[in-house]
Amino acid sequence: MSHHTARALDGQEATPVGVALLGATGSIGTSALRVLSRQRDRFVPVALTANANRAALAAQAAQFSPSYVGLVQECAEAPAEWGRGADCLVEAASHPDAAIVINAVVGAAGLQATLAALRLGKRVALANKETLVVAGEIVTRTAREHGAELVPVDSEHSAILQCLAGRQPHEVKRLVLTASGGPFRTWPAERIAGATRADALKHPTWQMGSKITIDSATLANKALEVIEAHYVFGVPYDRIDVVVHPQSIIHSFVEFVDGSVLAQMGVPSMELPILYALTWPERVPDNGVPAFDPVALGGLTFEHVRHEQFPMLGLGIAAGRTGGAAPAVFNAANEEAVAQFLAGTLSFGGIAERVGQALQDLGRLPGDTLEALLLADAAARHHVQSRIMQES
Ligand code: NAD
Ligand code: MG
Repeated sequence: MSHHTARALDGQEATPVGVALLGATGSIGTSALRVLSRQRDRFVPVALTANANRAALAAQAAQFSPSYVGLVQECAEAPAEWGRGADCLVEAASHPDAAIVINAVVGAAGLQATLAALRLGKRVALANKETLVVAGEIVTRTAREHGAELVPVDSEHSAILQCLAGRQPHEVKRLVLTASGGPFRTWPAERIAGATRADALKHPTWQMGSKITIDSATLANKALEVIEAHYVFGVPYDRIDVVVHPQSIIHSFVEFVDGSVLAQMGVPSMELPILYALTWPERVPDNGVPAFDPVALGGLTFEHVRHEQFPMLGLGIAAGRTGGAAPAVFNAANEEAVAQFLAGTLSFGGIAERVGQALQDLGRLPGDTLEALLLADAAARHHVQSRIMQES
C-alpha cells in the first residue's frame, strides 16, 4: 500500500484517495458507489464509466461530481464533455487523480484498462475476473514489473486473501473455493439441458449481473475463479479445489501445511470484498454488512461438485491447465454462448457444447503475446457465432 493510501486510511489526510470506477452502473459498480458513499472521508470517485446506460450514469455523475465520465456506446444525448468509445475505459483507468481503479466491467472488454492502470503503478481492485482468464500471465507480470497491486474483489478470492494474511507461499497447502451450486444444483442432467432463461437467472444466494448469473448456473463462473486464483495467488492447479456450499456463508478456505484450515465467513454481500480491496491490508470501520448471527444462519453444508451435470467447470479448469490461448478461448466462447442463451438462440445445454467445440478446434492456439490472445479471443467468438448461424 502506498504511503498516500495508508495516511488516508488513518484519517490523517485531508484529501481522500481518488478512485476510478469502471462499470459504475452494474451490480458491482452500484455496490461500490454505496461503499464509497459511506467511506467518503477516505475515498472519492474521480472517474466513472458505463457501457450504454446513459441515464443511470448521468444520475451517478450528478451525485458524485467526478472529474471524468465516460460512456462506451455512441449516444446522441450524452453530454459533450463526456469521454466516449471503448477508449474511455483506458482514459478513466489512467486518470491522474485515481490511485485506485475498481474494474467492474463484465467480460474481456476490461483487459486493456486493467493493463493501463497497472502500467501506471495504480492499485487495481479487480472484479473483472475475465481479465485474468484471458491474459493472467501478462496481467500479473505487468503488475510485478510496475510495482502495482492487483487486489481481487471476487468474494472467494477476497476470502482467500483475508485467510492468507501475509503467510508465505510455502506455508499454503491448498485453496478450496466454495460454490453455491447455482439454481440447478440438485436438478437432473436432462432438466438442466433444457433450463430456460428465467430458470437460470434465479440465483439462490447472490444478486448479480446477468452474465455472471448464467456463469453461476453452468459453474463456468467457478472455472473462471479457479483460473483467477491460480494467477492472483500463484498456486498450481492441483492445489486448488472446489466444494459446493449452498448457503454461501463461507466464502472460501485456505488449508495450511500444518493441517490448519482457515475460512472467511459472512452474509453474502459484495460490499465487504469491495471495501477490503480498497483498504487491504488494513481494515476500517464500516456498517455495510448485516450483523453476523451464527444461530440465524442455521446449518452450513458441503457437497461434491456434480461434474457430469456441470461440464463447464471441468472444461474451464482443463483450459487453465493447458494454458496458452486455451483460457482465452474458453472465456470468449463462453461470453458468446451466454449472450446467445440470453438472446434465446441457444439452449442452456448448448453453452457447454459450443464451448467444448471451440476448445477442441482452437484450444491449442498460441497465447504468448497480447496480440495472440486477442486473436484467439476473436476466433473463439466467431467460432460460436458461425455455428449458431449454421443451425438457425
Ligand atoms: P453487470 O452486468 O451488472 O455490470 C457490468 C458493468 O460493465 C456495467 O456498468 C456496464 O455498463 C459495463 N459494461 C458492460 N459491457 C461493457 C463493455 N463492453 N465495455 C465497457 N463497459 C461495459 O455485471 P456485474 O455483475 O457487476 O459484474 C461485473 C464483473 O464483476 C464481472 O466480471 C463479474 O464476473 C464480476 N463479479 C461480479 C459479482 C457480483 O456480485 N455481481 C461478484 C463477483 C465478481
Ligand atoms: Mg465469486
